[in-house]
Amino acid sequence: MDAKESTDSIPVVVLVCQHFIKEAMAAISELELKDVTCAAFPARCGRPPVNADEIRGAVAQAAPGPEARTVVFGGCCINGIQSFLSDSDRVSVCYMPQCFEMVASKSFVENLMSDGAFLTTPGWLAQWRQWIDRAGFDRQIAREYFAESMKRIVLLNTATDAAAVHNLEAFAAFVDLPALQIPVGIDLFKSLVHRRVLMERQDAARKSARKERQQYHQQQADFAMTLDLLSQLPMASTEKEAFASTASVFTMLFAPKAIVYAEKENESEPRAWLLYADAPAVDVSDRAPRITQVLEKNRQTRGRDHLILRMASGPGRIRGLELQNVAFPQYLDRYAQISQAVADVCGLAIDNARSHENLMENQKRLHIMATIDSLTGVANRAQFMEKAEDEIVRARRYNNSFVLLLMDVDHFKQINDNLGHPAGDAVLKAIASICEADLRDSDLFGRVGGEEFAAILSNSDLEQGRVSAERIRQSIADHDFKTDTKTVKCTASFGVTAWTGPKDSLTHMFKRADTALYQAKNQSRNRVVAVAHSG
Ligand code: GH3
Ligand code: MG
Ligand code: MG
Repeated sequence: MDAKESTDSIPVVVLVCQHFIKEAMAAISELELKDVTCAAFPARCGRPPVNADEIRGAVAQAAPGPEARTVVFGGCCINGIQSFLSDSDRVSVCYMPQCFEMVASKSFVENLMSDGAFLTTPGWLAQWRQWIDRAGFDRQIAREYFAESMKRIVLLNTATDAAAVHNLEAFAAFVDLPALQIPVGIDLFKSLVHRRVLMERQDAARKSARKERQQYHQQQADFAMTLDLLSQLPMASTEKEAFASTASVFTMLFAPKAIVYAEKENESEPRAWLLYADAPAVDVSDRAPRITQVLEKNRQTRGRDHLILRMASGPGRIRGLELQNVAFPQYLDRYAQISQAVADVCGLAIDNARSHENLMENQKRLHIMATIDSLTGVANRAQFMEKAEDEIVRARRYNNSFVLLLMDVDHFKQINDNLGHPAGDAVLKAIASICEADLRDSDLFGRVGGEEFAAILSNSDLEQGRVSAERIRQSIADHDFKTDTKTVKCTASFGVTAWTGPKDSLTHMFKRADTALYQAKNQSRNRVVAVAHSG
């Protein structure tokens, strides 16, 4: 907005006392001022002074419009009035000790008065009789009153009333004093009015410029905040975060009541979410078809207080944002360009976050595949070996003993042969569960071969290991393994060994446990053999 252009046409009301209304009208007309009108407040010559309501009433009667400003000119009648008016009244006061100073210079007025002049103007003289009546004077008292302090009656003739001279003579005769008329015209008043109207308009222009500046600074701050939010967008590592950041950015720009993100990929059903800056998005897919249809037609669709923005996306995909009930509709035009760019960045952030989430998900799946045995759900051989090495490191550092337990299912081939491979699988799964249930949470357990399992029992010695193995052996031997067709019994053999000190290694321990297991097999199976040292 150009401040000068708009404030030039701001209406100004020149407010004067009734006695000066003709001078005001003449001044405005001779100055040819555009959008300046005049109005009058009641003439009481200061007894009592006018009040704020009378000023407001006079301005309202002039009906200048809400933007208008008023300059009130006067003497003792308006003394102190400023303190009763507020900024919203848009009234400025041009006060002078004597109202005659509107038409004659201060020193001229003072000289006349100190020389015993009773000063009058055409407006006052037109009503001199009412003034006498109000004062309660009869002719005799009036003469005595005037004789005491006045030497003459002086008319400051502004030439705005043809009857002024006649009125002067009548009044002077009434109070029995000489009459003198001094032609003053209205040039002084004209220059006063002109100056004050210009001052008002200048002030309006200054205020309007200040408002513009404030708006500009606010806009700068908004942009800075938007940029700040934008810079955080790429950090969003989940769809949830990207949705929330998108909502923050657009709330900052337009403060809409609701923000909906909608998307449609190829022939799949369109989806939509209601986005919040500080809460998880809500699925509102029933709204998606309406929005994606609009998005298909135009890149931007603008209503009075709502906006639909298409976001950049790959082929076969359409998506965008709907901003509903925008609190600052005037910004829709102003931020049209930037909002498009911001929307595209938000779209990228959403895509990035989703890719990141997929990547994380895949990594998790890969890790599971690499470490977990898919049949039994326990650690596979690689994972078991890795964790077992950690146990060796811990044992060396803290000189903690631990136990390695090896287990091989007895005659498992027969189970497969008799009941089929799937039944064999079921038995293996059940055995893994039994072992896990019998071991402590802190123990490490894994499937290290087809029907071979192993466990590391931390903080345990050989005897504790033997007892644990015995317990598991018993549990398996007691268990009824249910397959699709029948219930079968199954046993396992165990080789147990304990860490012997810093020189011991996993390879050595496996060798010892293997030997022990071999012995168990040779001693008719379903047995635990524990060995302390090799050889
Ligand atoms: P032993 O008491 O001497 O250990 O006899 P065994 O029959 O258990 O020993 P062997 O090594 O001869 O046979 C092991 C069998 O385990 C052979 C193999 O088919 C079976 N097996 C290995 N992995 C799986 C598996 O994942 N599922 C099933 N059902 N069977 C398996
Ligand atoms: Mg075997
Ligand atoms: Mg076996």
